[in-house]
Amino acid sequence: MNIIFKKKITVLAVIMLIITGIIFNVSAVFKFNPKPAYGKRYLSLSQIATYYGMQYSQGPTIGTLRSNYSLLTFTHKKKLFKFNGRKVNLLMPVAKFGTSLAISEDDFKKLIDPILRPIAVNAHKVYTIVIDPGHGGKDNGAGKGIYEKNVNLQIARRAKKHLSSLGYRVLMTRSGDQYLSLSARNAYCERNKGDLFISIHANAASASVRGIETFILVPAGYKSSNGGSRARYNTGNKCDNNNALLGYEIHNEILKSTNGIERSMKHAQFAVLKKSKVPAVLIETGFLSNYKDKKLLASAWYQEKIALGIAKGVLSYHQRMYKAWKK
Ligand SMILES: [Zn+2]
Repeated sequence: MNIIFKKKITVLAVIMLIITGIIFNVSAVFKFNPKPAYGKRYLSLSQIATYYGMQYSQGPTIGTLRSNYSLLTFTHKKKLFKFNGRKVNLLMPVAKFGTSLAISEDDFKKLIDPILRPIAVNAHKVYTIVIDPGHGGKDNGAGKGIYEKNVNLQIARRAKKHLSSLGYRVLMTRSGDQYLSLSARNAYCERNKGDLFISIHANAASASVRGIETFILVPAGYKSSNGGSRARYNTGNKCDNNNALLGYEIHNEILKSTNGIERSMKHAQFAVLKKSKVPAVLIETGFLSNYKDKKLLASAWYQEKIALGIAKGVLSYHQRMYKAWKK
């Protein structure tokens, strides 16, 4: 990649664009007709398609929005949907009004719109990237024989190398095998004026479970994707729309780079996401409890592919946000 970001020019350009930018007022352009379902406001998929100028087709349970660039597929009663081939979780299940499928207004505003149309995110400077290798020191994290803390650190170091070569200032919450509290990780990001926070982890579950998951903070008033009966409602942070675009781009690029097994992009309320004041993502790179994933995560070439995916995801987030605001 030979795209070199010139820090000062980028910062200046973004500031000027914010000042002179045209802010779209969605309601002034198009009138939605929200209806209640599951205790939330819902918008029909056909109206959303009209709003975007996309084609809409629907069977009894599946609704599809299509343009030359994008394909979104939703299934009645499900949270999981497909966004250009990637699996992403909605905050609320798909509902049905008569024959017409619908999604929650917040899923439209805080998830779909920012990914489809990055003018819906808050433009900001992207210069300092804080990478947070999970666990460390006395806290080994997941895994037996191969510890998560070491895998996380290896991937983080490689991601740092790639992001640095793109011109970013890259800092790591820990650069060796030391223990750090969760709050110390966010404090480090704030102290060093991080613009993005990327936490790297590996998972453990039953032996058959494997694959890549990307987590963003669940917006206020919603439950985590993995919530189950223990789900609590989260208070959110101020970065919902940016989290969605950053999470999607990183998730997509890691899967492209590794050609790995996709679980999905999900909402969670992990402490490091909750406390982050800047757009933040937590990546579960695989399961150390699964034989195949463990072998992959321990290998340098696979760590390298994940790291490259992370760097490309950050770059794509930056470029898409920048291009949207430049218009
Ligand atoms: Zn972990």
